[in-house]
Amino acid sequence: MSQFDYDLFVIGAGSGGVRAARIAASHGARVAIAEEFRVGGTCVIRGCVPKKLYVLASRFADEFREAAGFGWTVPEAEFSWPKLVAAKEAEISRLERAYSANLEKSSVATFPSRAVITAPHTVQLDGGRSFTAGRILIATGGAPVKPNVPGVEFAITSNEVFYLPALPETMIIVGGGYIAVEFACLLQRLGVKVTLVYRGEAILRGFDDDVRRVLTEAMSAAGIEILIRTDLKHIEEDKAGGRRVTLTNGQTRHVGEIMVATGRKPNTVGLGLETVGVEINTAGAIAVDDQSRTTAPGIWAVGDVTNRINLTPVAIREGHAFADTVFGNKPWLADHRLVPTAVFSTPEIGTVGLSEEEARAECGGGVTIFQTSFRAMKATLSGSGDRVFMKLVVDKVTDKILGVHIVGEGAAEMAQLLAISVKMGATKADFDATMPLHPSAAEELVTMR
Ligand code: FAD
Ligand code: NDP
Repeated sequence: MSQFDYDLFVIGAGSGGVRAARIAASHGARVAIAEEFRVGGTCVIRGCVPKKLYVLASRFADEFREAAGFGWTVPEAEFSWPKLVAAKEAEISRLERAYSANLEKSSVATFPSRAVITAPHTVQLDGGRSFTAGRILIATGGAPVKPNVPGVEFAITSNEVFYLPALPETMIIVGGGYIAVEFACLLQRLGVKVTLVYRGEAILRGFDDDVRRVLTEAMSAAGIEILIRTDLKHIEEDKAGGRRVTLTNGQTRHVGEIMVATGRKPNTVGLGLETVGVEINTAGAIAVDDQSRTTAPGIWAVGDVTNRINLTPVAIREGHAFADTVFGNKPWLADHRLVPTAVFSTPEIGTVGLSEEEARAECGGGVTIFQTSFRAMKATLSGSGDRVFMKLVVDKVTDKILGVHIVGEGAAEMAQLLAISVKMGATKADFDATMPLHPSAAEELVTMR
């Protein structure tokens, strides 16, 4: 009989925590998990899933307009934000129930409570109930950070935007990362006049420069105002409704809402980490080794709280690797190389591997660039200006594909499949030896000269 109540106590039932709990239980461990908000975590409740549903909703605006070119007469389309919010809520509640049911089926005990670590091997829930566990996994994710400017309490974040009672006529979105760009595109299509305010030279720092340029042009063409080299100075509440936003470019704008999408920080505060010696790194995340071990014996951490690559599939892999390694006698490491990623803007970005700038810096022997930009087939009849941009970054010496970057319809789906060949070490010659599939946009990837 074990000296502990559980073999594993997981704090946080998001992407990483749920996967780790279920896999550990499948290896025979006695597992408990605590969740202070809703089972499913950020991705299911207020991240990837509701975001993608809103993106899909927003794209009907283009479809209805463009249908005329294909012979359809579409009566004036009407959009109801409350209906979309309700439909999304029903779907995420369904997923939340499915996650809870799966935990139960796996014999994982779920506690709807905040959990904190009070001593080695000891976790305390709201109300003071304590449990002991052989191992503790911290999978508490992250939360939005707001910039430190006067009146920032009048700004919403991605947490609140999903639940706005009504869509404003105008909105400022601050930031140039994934969330700012995705919400600027989707809200603009749902009828909001969006201004994106970004402090740097070009949005999506870290992505390939051509991709950033192409998306910026497409967003501007769709009517989104993008202010670069501009930051937030202060926000005031307008008694007549809305917000008065003063920017560093000297302008004051009156808008219905302002949303800040200025990054996220790991949820580490108040967890009791100092009492057990879990170290925080300079980026404010829990420091872990490649097996997700923290600096405290018996305590591991996975997902956004470790701020490695803050994506759902990465958190899931880290949680799975931890559980197999520690409870399944099947050691393996989550591989953080060549992780494909998408920005669900419209047009969307799909990418895997190095940007041209990264490749030029890292690749001693030089790189060759193949790129194309063409009118999407649908645009021929729809009359839209939609284009597709594709770029291959190739190692000049080995001919290996180092990076693939796509902007256009279906980019995320293409990036997922391309990631397999890039991961396998495909060369440009392998791409060229592959028969094109016609007519498709993706065929251009194997015909570029
Ligand atoms: P989370 O999923 O955040 O789960 C952590 C859980 O821990 C939460 O449920 C929280 O309530 C709980 N918790 C925190 N502290 C405690 C405590 N002390 N006690 C008990 N419970 C606690 N990634 C993608 O791959 N694709 C996307 O399209 C995508 N879109 C996104 C869109 C948005 C708007 C956001 C915000 C994120 C998006 N992400 C996306 C990122 C993705 O959601 C995260 O990388 C992922 O959810 C991280 O999983 P996690 O398990 O580390 O943490
Ligand atoms: P990001 O880190 O992607 O972007 C943050 C943006 O805010 C950057 O443009 C940054 O500018 C800017 N910024 C940071 N601090 C300030 C400040 N004080 N004032 C003004 N601007 C500021 O964070 P997000 O919040 O957009 O997303 C968080 C993470 O969630 C992503 O990095 C990603 O890992 C994940 N995610 C993934 C998605 C997907 O897979 N499709 C979708 C949404 C989120 P600068 O560039 O100058 O630093």
